[in-house]
Amino acid sequence: MHAPQRRSTIPVRIRDVVVGGGAPVAVQSMTNTDTADAASTSAQVAELFLAGSELVRITVNTREAAAAVPEIRTRLSDLGHDVPLIGDFHYNGHLLLREFPACAEALDKYRINPGNVGKGASHDKNFATMIEVAKEHGRPVRIGVNAGSLDQELLARLMDDNARAGSPRTADEVLLEAMVQSACDSARAAVELGLPEDAIVISCKISKVQHLVAVYRLLASRTRHALHLGLTEAGMGNKGVVASAAGLAVLLQEGIGDTIRVSLTPRPGEPRTEEVRVAQQILQSLEIRPFLPQVTACPGCGRTTSTLFQELAQSIERFLHERMPVWKAIKPRAAELQVAVMGCVVNGPGESKAAHVGISLPGTGEAPRAPVYVDGVKVATLEGPSLAREFQRIVEEYVARM
Ligand code: SF4
Repeated sequence: MHAPQRRSTIPVRIRDVVVGGGAPVAVQSMTNTDTADAASTSAQVAELFLAGSELVRITVNTREAAAAVPEIRTRLSDLGHDVPLIGDFHYNGHLLLREFPACAEALDKYRINPGNVGKGASHDKNFATMIEVAKEHGRPVRIGVNAGSLDQELLARLMDDNARAGSPRTADEVLLEAMVQSACDSARAAVELGLPEDAIVISCKISKVQHLVAVYRLLASRTRHALHLGLTEAGMGNKGVVASAAGLAVLLQEGIGDTIRVSLTPRPGEPRTEEVRVAQQILQSLEIRPFLPQVTACPGCGRTTSTLFQELAQSIERFLHERMPVWKAIKPRAAELQVAVMGCVVNGPGESKAAHVGISLPGTGEAPRAPVYVDGVKVATLEGPSLAREFQRIVEEYVARM
């Protein structure tokens, strides 16, 4: 089995990261700090970057925020973090980008929401201003349509046309068509204004999974621009994680999507970096990109009488997470490592043999010994209090040989 092939799209360079054109699917995230607070925002960008976010978006909503962007860039450079920064603009982007050229220069990409750049003639004028600034600074843009802020004039026109049609489509279908038209028309307008085709990324975000799948399939059939994928307002906890994974997986499996974001609402106290880890895990589960060694652990059942099995699975996962930043520099292939921690003899030896390194713990009634397999061959039998430590040593030795 192979990872799905990416759809052919036009590659876009954003600082040193390439999105589309067959490049690895990039993970991005967004800060939730007040951008005007350069210290907090640069700290959160750094946190997201260190967690693996390859692009970080910050809102640029006020004059104070725009004024703070160069300082955010400087602070990140001082930390040695060469992370691409994307400015998220709504309503006043044309004004801020013109009034604060240092902000326009410090950002690596501008997100333009065609539904939020004004109405009628001012829409076209404001949009053109943002494209002019992008050209002057040699920056790409994302045409980022959102169902919640769709161009209402376009939607009303399509709804009217639909009402007059012989066999009208559903309101949802017209909404999705309007989103795709808004994105494609805006991309075309940007090219007509002189922005190169390889400076445009498109997104059409919506909050329902089936709508997301439908709108991106439509979009992918109509454009070769690189696509940014994400379920908007995915929500909190399991709901946000599962809904994002469900929607993104279908599309990624079809080769659609060149960069992704998982829009989770963190619970109070929860780190913002969770959205990065979930995005990475989606890509890794689909075998599109490896990020971290993976642990195959059985769920446990009535045959696992002690907590030894759960504790070992947890401690191995913690060990792998802690070691990966070190391995990344010296043994990058460690990200492809598969480790199995199994609870009893039923599936234990089989799964353990299928992993690079696997351990089959004793279930109820079994002798208190755990065979360890490396590349399918039994290499040791562990028991006693040093079991976890010994298993970690075997994993570490395996990585050293990778
Ligand atoms: S491997 Fe054994 S302990 Fe784990 S779920 Fe299967 S039967 Fe239960």
